[in-house]
Amino acid sequence: MVSRLIAKGHAYNIDNGVEGEQGHVLFDVQSMADYGALSGRSLDDMLAGARVEVASYKKYAGDFVLWKPSADNEPGWDSPWGRGRPGWHLECSAMIEKHLGETIDIHGGGQDLIFPHHENEIAQSCCAHDGKPFANVWMHNGFINIEGEKMSKSLGNFRMVNDLLEQYPGEVLRYVILSAHYRSEQNFGKDLLDSAWRSLDTLYGFLRSQADTEAADVDISETDAYKALLDDLNTPMAISELHKLARELNGADAADKPAAKGRLLAIAGLMGLLQQDAEQWFTLSRGDDDISAEQVEALIAKRNQAKADKDYAGADAVREELKSLGVVLEDSREGTKWRRE
Ligand SMILES: [Zn+2]
Repeated sequence: MVSRLIAKGHAYNIDNGVEGEQGHVLFDVQSMADYGALSGRSLDDMLAGARVEVASYKKYAGDFVLWKPSADNEPGWDSPWGRGRPGWHLECSAMIEKHLGETIDIHGGGQDLIFPHHENEIAQSCCAHDGKPFANVWMHNGFINIEGEKMSKSLGNFRMVNDLLEQYPGEVLRYVILSAHYRSEQNFGKDLLDSAWRSLDTLYGFLRSQADTEAADVDISETDAYKALLDDLNTPMAISELHKLARELNGADAADKPAAKGRLLAIAGLMGLLQQDAEQWFTLSRGDDDISAEQVEALIAKRNQAKADKDYAGADAVREELKSLGVVLEDSREGTKWRRE
């Protein structure tokens, strides 16, 4: 790729014999008319806001490294410009070309990578491919704030998904993340997790009350929720539509319920939500001091035995004991169901 960029007049190598300079190949940003189009800023503005290495051998301060020499103790490969290694922007362009092709559908990344990294990827790939588009869509995500503070290594306020999953169902994490648009800053913290859990309880509550309704296969392409997702992945809008669909299911005539349930589940499925059995959802543990599901089942068995023995006072005592532990029992034809409050 470096050789092609040199041949097409978009890059130059430093061949001045000066140690530390010799063996560099630089991209000539002034050779590309629309360099900087992604961030929509002029070259001068971009350079003012970024740490740009000023070096006398550069034709222009914004020129960036495609290939750099490696010292003997550094990783390196032989090349027409001496032993060296690729610059970090070039690695992405080369890997994308090799594995995905000249034009890709979607390129993602954090907002902090727009400049210089993604501008430079575009420059390398477009110029190496005679102006062919590099990515049809760019999706840049905002940062996550923890309890109002930026998540950072130095603050030590990292939250790892695996740790959170010990306290929260995955759908709760998903719900919090999807509640903000991916391009905007995201807040993350206990209050948001707890309120996401309550919102999911509301949705699962509707499903639970409609357990007897068979969901129909429906076309969702005309729903507002689906259109919201097609509009730059507007998940906050889609989630509010999800609640609307749940209320519609609740209020629908018997004949319309299967389609209403089908729409709700299909839209939720696109976001990885409402994937669990509604009955099961309400048995998930809510905290460290919760009684375990096995203990609940054991007490229900004890209560059933008491009922079989016509010891109704004993059966009621078990129900009260569970209630004091935040577990509600509901007797039905299929047996005793339970949920946490
Ligand atoms: Zn990259």
